Amino acid sequence: MEKSSHGVTLVLATRNPGKAVELQALLADLPVMLRLAADFPGAPEVPEDASTLEGNAARKARALQAFTGLPTLADDTGLEVEALGGQPGVHSARFAGPQATDADNRALLLQRLQGVENRRARFRTVLAFAPDARTLHLFEGVCSGWILEEERGSGGFGYDSLFVPEGYTQTFAEMPLAMKNRISHRGQALRAFLSFLRTWLNEPGG
Ligand code: IMP
Repeated sequence: MEKSSHGVTLVLATRNPGKAVELQALLADLPVMLRLAADFPGAPEVPEDASTLEGNAARKARALQAFTGLPTLADDTGLEVEALGGQPGVHSARFAGPQATDADNRALLLQRLQGVENRRARFRTVLAFAPDARTLHLFEGVCSGWILEEERGSGGFGYDSLFVPEGYTQTFAEMPLAMKNRISHRGQALRAFLSFLRTWLNEPGG
């Protein structure tokens, strides 16, 4: 990875605008120039068909790193619902089918949990950082909470309007983004990555 007094250029391997906004906010204070997958015409669309979040994140980071030649950060997130044995988990994006929208997925989740008393769930994010073709670092963040019986709030994306994090009364979709980032799975994983990156940036030669 090339370092300079301006820091590093980092590619975010996401096409999800909601995620890109969150990641950009979290990285704003660091000497990091961000590029998005969409900035690279012809960049490969990586199928997220690994059996784990780790596998998907690693695949996306490696593929875009190979295409751009730049250090790349990829994330994969799943919603693990206790009463559904951890589902939809790694299948969260396609819970209601291959072409499912976020609204379809939320509707199916509410349907599956109809009459179910145990509403406990957690978001889990895995970040994969590929600084070069040979190296991969993984970081994890978890946020526990519960699933409401109906949607609340219009912010955020995905399952945000159904999820209340533990210790709070608002859904992720009702909170300001800065508040979600302080407590969320992605925020925690990002902070683990940032502390790694800060050390790395200060290491000679890296
Ligand atoms: P992926 O990581 O983009 O594959 O996301 C998997 C699924 O989880 C998608 O349906 C996303 O909309 C959803 N998702 C990812 N992150 C969040 C979040 O922070 N809040 C709510 N839903 C999310």
